Amino acid sequence: MSEGKNNLRGQFVTPDLGFTPKGLYIGGEWLESVKGKRFESINPANMEILGDVPLADEHDVNLAVMAAKDAFNDWRRMPIKERAGYLVALADKLQDNRDELGLMDCLDSGNTIAGMKGDVDWSSDTLRYFAGLITEIKGESFSEKPGHLNFTRREPYGVVAKINPFNHPLRFCAEKSASALAAGNTVVMKASEQAPLSSLRFAEICHEVLPPGVVNVLTGGIACGQAMVRHPDVRRVGVVGSVSTGKSIAKDAAEDLTHVTLELGGKNPVIIFPDVDPKEAASYAIKGMNMNRQGQSCSSTSRVFVHQDIQNEVIDELKILIEKLPVGLPWIESNEVGPIVSQRQYDKILDFITSAGQEGATLVSGGGSPNDELLSNGFFIQPTVFSNVKPEMRIAREEIFGPVMSVFKWNDYEDLISEINGLEFGLTAMIVTNNMKQAMETSERVEAGYIWINSNGRYLGAPYGGWKASGIGQEECFDELLSYTRIKNVNMRW
Ligand code: NAD
Repeated sequence: MSEGKNNLRGQFVTPDLGFTPKGLYIGGEWLESVKGKRFESINPANMEILGDVPLADEHDVNLAVMAAKDAFNDWRRMPIKERAGYLVALADKLQDNRDELGLMDCLDSGNTIAGMKGDVDWSSDTLRYFAGLITEIKGESFSEKPGHLNFTRREPYGVVAKINPFNHPLRFCAEKSASALAAGNTVVMKASEQAPLSSLRFAEICHEVLPPGVVNVLTGGIACGQAMVRHPDVRRVGVVGSVSTGKSIAKDAAEDLTHVTLELGGKNPVIIFPDVDPKEAASYAIKGMNMNRQGQSCSSTSRVFVHQDIQNEVIDELKILIEKLPVGLPWIESNEVGPIVSQRQYDKILDFITSAGQEGATLVSGGGSPNDELLSNGFFIQPTVFSNVKPEMRIAREEIFGPVMSVFKWNDYEDLISEINGLEFGLTAMIVTNNMKQAMETSERVEAGYIWINSNGRYLGAPYGGWKASGIGQEECFDELLSYTRIKNVNMRW
């Protein structure tokens, strides 16, 4: 790996990853897809091809599920301390490869390097967290009368399918398999087709640490994901993706009544009350956008509801702060905003920006590609703020999943609450006020699964999950671990 060097045009070329994907990872072996199809992954900062990977379909899914099924018996019957040891060893190996994995995700997804290295830390922390909880997978018991005992056991499902989005490629591989593995399941995982490389590097690390077949990694598109969900030997599915994907998967899963966890999209509000320092409020709103992932974050606080008394000051400060964010090649540590992951997402976001202008929103800052020759080959979009946004506009209603913030003016509290709750989404919300009574009441009334009051960030152990169309189930917590078990009740008389 090099730091990046000047090419002939004086531009930074992609640092060398030194990684050639070995193939689909199935049953501890590296395989081409059955049909031999492949697809390329590009660096969205400059369109360089980073590598190509197999395009898996239902034939490869069948092989992967079979391998996971074969590995299940030994994995579930292993002494739990030993199983926990495997997870800790995986966490350690990820840390050993932190710089490489961080860079790989940075190049493949366009997210900035510091955040992607942070994702490796979060991945290791999650593996250790669930390894530590392994002795808490307990049943309950009661005695109906002398000589009788009724007790429950928590048993794994078997083969778990995991389907991941593009915005945290490595992190979701590790984080989303940790609880399922700790509970004694084996995993078939699919990487996002928009950033598949680190998932296959993750597979190599699993190969060094885990018994064959315990984790199987596929690269492919929607057909591959559908085949995973529809496979009769898959009894448990965990998905992170958009609302439309979640709805489609829920329908497929319903065919076999397969248990699903869905972590889906958001259109998350920041609610700013008039009693706060406008500068502080603006800074919370910007931090909540996760601009180091170009706003491509499910929890991004893209709807900013500002009380009319401080609206102008907050908008002025948003403009100052957003224009200070350095947009550039994401592997340069000082840059804080990189490119959008793919042409598809880039076009979609620009279309939202155009529609906002056409529908009468006022552009405060950004609104297009940066005027920088160095970035002209990539999918860069300036961090953008619109004010004067009305609830009926497209940017007010649909998830953009990009660096676009919408400012809404409010003055009536009841109208504010109904506007916030008026969408199908219910993932996160942020409340900014010094009045704790107001904050607590608002946190009760907002329909969302994860709420910040004068804070932001994520905390391992704190349940994360969406309400309404933003998802089903809670993750990053003890309940997630239990959700990868099913209860068996045993009655015993002596
Ligand atoms: P996406 O929904 O397009 O794809 C996600 C994954 O699902 C991909 O691997 C894709 O191939 C697969 N897929 C798509 N349709 C499928 C189908 N019908 N059956 C089976 N698999 C299918 O999402 P994306 O563009 O990769 O990621 C962005 C979305 O993910 C946003 O909506 C974002 O909010 C959401 N997200 C949610 C969370 C959360 O924790 N709630 C976290 C990150 C991202």
